[in-house]
Amino acid sequence: MTDFIPPAKPLIGDEERAAVDRVLRSGMIAQGPEVKAFEEEFAAHFGLGRECVAVNSGTSGQHLGLLAAGVGVGDEVIVPSFTFAATANSVALTGATPVFADIEEGSFCLDPASVRSVVTERTVGIMPVHLYGHPANMTGLQALAEELGLKIFEDAAQAHGASLNGTPVGAFGTFGMFSLYPTKNMTSGEGGMVSCVDAETARLVRLYRNQGMEKQYHNEVVGLNNRMTDIHAAIGREQLKKVDGWTRTRQENAAFLSANITGVTTPPVAEGAVHVYHQYTVRVPEGRDEFAAALKSEYNVGSGMFYPVPNHELAPFAQNAHADLPVTAKAAKECLSLPVHPSVDQAGLERIVEAVNALAKAGA
Ligand SMILES: *Cc1c(COP(=O)(O)O)cnc(C)c1O
Repeated sequence: MTDFIPPAKPLIGDEERAAVDRVLRSGMIAQGPEVKAFEEEFAAHFGLGRECVAVNSGTSGQHLGLLAAGVGVGDEVIVPSFTFAATANSVALTGATPVFADIEEGSFCLDPASVRSVVTERTVGIMPVHLYGHPANMTGLQALAEELGLKIFEDAAQAHGASLNGTPVGAFGTFGMFSLYPTKNMTSGEGGMVSCVDAETARLVRLYRNQGMEKQYHNEVVGLNNRMTDIHAAIGREQLKKVDGWTRTRQENAAFLSANITGVTTPPVAEGAVHVYHQYTVRVPEGRDEFAAALKSEYNVGSGMFYPVPNHELAPFAQNAHADLPVTAKAAKECLSLPVHPSVDQAGLERIVEAVNALAKAGA
């Protein structure tokens, strides 16, 4: 049988290996000059025009960003339910309450009208997720945030390089978090980057990252150890040189899939949006799970379900289980992410198209 096409594949080259070796040989392996250089290069590369702070995971980045924004017990932050649990977890870890809102059918991202419907006097912020690499409706969300005096916290874990009307994701909110986990569009092994709206937010994220200390033994707040190591930063710096090429390949792969797939709904791109296709997600209206199983067993094509269980139905957030989120419920049943990553070659793309079209036809 032909080779299995995996749903994701991290790309690590000789450059990353040499960079790690350079750090190991230097004898300085914890947070140091590589981290500082990575922060500056990341901000410049994505045109963020802001100070970035590197941490040991995307989840830590969200958590520290929220702490820096003063979010805590008694506050509510509105999040999508159709996302990875880290979004709501980061809110809950501050002592605040995540409140779930519905998504837009096309983009799979937060719907401003649904957000408005769950605002209370306790709401302090909105955390949109730029899901699958497509920017959330920031025009609508920013207008709402301004009207109601709310902050915006961006979960850009999946969206390195995505933009809306020329503004890169990560440059809209009080902070924006990028994940550097191996399956994301670029990696540092584990890691996260926090893009901060101003110098004070960046200073606070740095404080929380390092036990609450800016100056050794002059602790200002209760903090964590969420530092990135120079080993990871060195990997990230090499990935930064490659990510634009990978993104172009993802976009070309997506264009081919969208031009040739029939029988299932392909992902639309909103006007003014640059989609970086962390995932290429189609909707299979009936029998999605059997469809995915047949893709694998009959065509050796991998796929992913992101996310089959809406977060408001997860045990830690069960007090929200009654939330009525019909667009989320439908997406959780229908979504299937097909391989779109840069390692899928033309023959692979053609096999994916053939498989999807044949299975869609058989199911119809
Ligand atoms: C990956 C991811 C995170 C968390 O990032 P980690 O680096 O794994 O901690 C948060 N939100 C979303 C939407 C993600 O996909």
